[in-house]
Amino acid sequence: MERFAYFNGQYLPESQVCISFRDRGFNLGDAVFDAERTFGGKIFRLQEHIDRLYGSLEKASIDPGLSPQEMIEITQQTVEKNLPLLKPNEDYWVMQRITRGLNVVGGELWQSGEATVIVECTPLPLRARAPLLRDGLDVFSPSLRRVPPESLDPNIKSHNYLNLVLADLQVRDRSRHAWAILLDTRGYISEGIGSNIFLVKDQALLTPDARYVLPGISRGVVIALARDEGIPVCERDLTPEEAASSDEAFITSTSFCICPVRSYDGRMLGAGEAPGPVTRQLSQAFAREVKYDFVSQYLESLGGSAA
Ligand code: PLP
Repeated sequence: MERFAYFNGQYLPESQVCISFRDRGFNLGDAVFDAERTFGGKIFRLQEHIDRLYGSLEKASIDPGLSPQEMIEITQQTVEKNLPLLKPNEDYWVMQRITRGLNVVGGELWQSGEATVIVECTPLPLRARAPLLRDGLDVFSPSLRRVPPESLDPNIKSHNYLNLVLADLQVRDRSRHAWAILLDTRGYISEGIGSNIFLVKDQALLTPDARYVLPGISRGVVIALARDEGIPVCERDLTPEEAASSDEAFITSTSFCICPVRSYDGRMLGAGEAPGPVTRQLSQAFAREVKYDFVSQYLESLGGSAA
């Protein structure tokens, strides 16, 4: 039994999806994507993700040759076809990937064929990430800075993750639970590989301004929930020193939802408990919003092992 993926108009077993080595997504990272997750098999906020995807496509001047509604239907079909392969307690990470297409042989670099469109899903890495959710992350700011908005609009969710990948590699060996949050070129904290960061200081939430980071869908959910819970939220420039002296911190991402941070640049945060009280309150509110206990889902994947 093999998962199916949508590839340029067809649903194919994954092993039959063959991307050309001339594809610009492969050659140049000339592609955009978006990623959702399912909760109990249902895709969360698909419309919002597709709106963001079409925003990325427009900013990158890529025409996918499909309407947003068609993309929604293809995504739903892809998940539907693969649901029977999910094990109990698992959920899918669902991706739309659109490249500018193939380079034209004998042509110029700005020329390309039609867009390559892939919609695929894989089980969320629940077991691999459960220890991070259980214990909290050790966040470090690597020396590598985030590509600035003047060079690449952070609202384009592009395939080109090299800046984030290299930054992540810089911190990987510092702790088993290491996570990179890059500083921007002005020296303020920005974002990490597929993740936004929040600090908690004096019962208020602080997060980098959306002009410098991809405004994650999970970030938006948390901001709205915090306002409902009466927790003040401030989007502004944040220094690494503020982060290291915050009471609590957490990251948000589609896959994690909310993951507590236990230390920043080697300093334990607050009372040293991760999650701290505000992070726990927001995680519970998040679980109510998505109608799914995502924390238990992660922890249960450990199946009694300490991992
Ligand atoms: N920042 C970057 C650079 C990302 O690529 C992502 C998503 O992968 C995020 C933040 C978090 O966004 P979301 O909450 O929509 O997953």
